[in-house]
Amino acid sequence: MTQFIGAIYAFYTAGSNEARYVGMTTNSVLVRERQHFKTAMAGRKTPFYDWLRKEGRHAYAIPLEVFFTDLDDLADAEIRWIRRLRRKGHRLLNLTDGGRGPNGHVWTEEQRRAAGDRARGRPTGVHRRGPESPNWGRAIHSDAQRAKWSEERKGKNTGADNPNFGKFGIEHPSYGHTVSAETRLLLSEQKRGERNPNFGKVTSAETRAKQSAALKGRAMPSSVRNAHTRYHTNKGVFKDTCRHCIDDAMNSERENES
Ligand SMILES: [Zn+2]
Repeated sequence: MTQFIGAIYAFYTAGSNEARYVGMTTNSVLVRERQHFKTAMAGRKTPFYDWLRKEGRHAYAIPLEVFFTDLDDLADAEIRWIRRLRRKGHRLLNLTDGGRGPNGHVWTEEQRRAAGDRARGRPTGVHRRGPESPNWGRAIHSDAQRAKWSEERKGKNTGADNPNFGKFGIEHPSYGHTVSAETRLLLSEQKRGERNPNFGKVTSAETRAKQSAALKGRAMPSSVRNAHTRYHTNKGVFKDTCRHCIDDAMNSERENES
């Protein structure tokens, strides 16, 4: 079966035969090249993207090797190509040695599934139902078993054990993710009134004294933004002289359009 799984590619710049970056993709190299330019335009700061911004349209990517087997072969090949080119003196701007794992690429579940589906010669996103399903005739796990697994998993993803621990900004998988107005309303309702974890709690006199001492000498509200939240948002007041009131109104108008 010859289904495309992915490719290893290298970035060059016009007039030079020195490779400056090696990557792997499960898309076409042209698509990946375009994504890299987009990321560069968005201002991502790594040696490679700094270089890409500098070279601009002189930079281009070409395939080095194409794979029809599986993702692990692809990842191994990336390590091999990076090692080989560095040994030959190419000043690669890659931050890692390639491959998978903590120092290299982490496949998303989506990529895995798509690559698997391609390898099996099935179109992506098509579900196999009934006897076609790999789970056909299998017993569904009992409630007791599920409860046991749930108990075992508890706390496994917290703190430093969470794969996203310490990832901020563009490194975080949720970076740039927006939530629809509908979902926001739902989330908001889930924490309103007595469902709020702080509902009915009263700050002790001792804590209040501490808070007061810590803030002494600082003008309150501490910013225009803060004042807007306290005197406008929380009280349902709209002031056309307040830029935050105008911003909020414009934002909610935009949300209603989409
Ligand atoms: Zn305001």
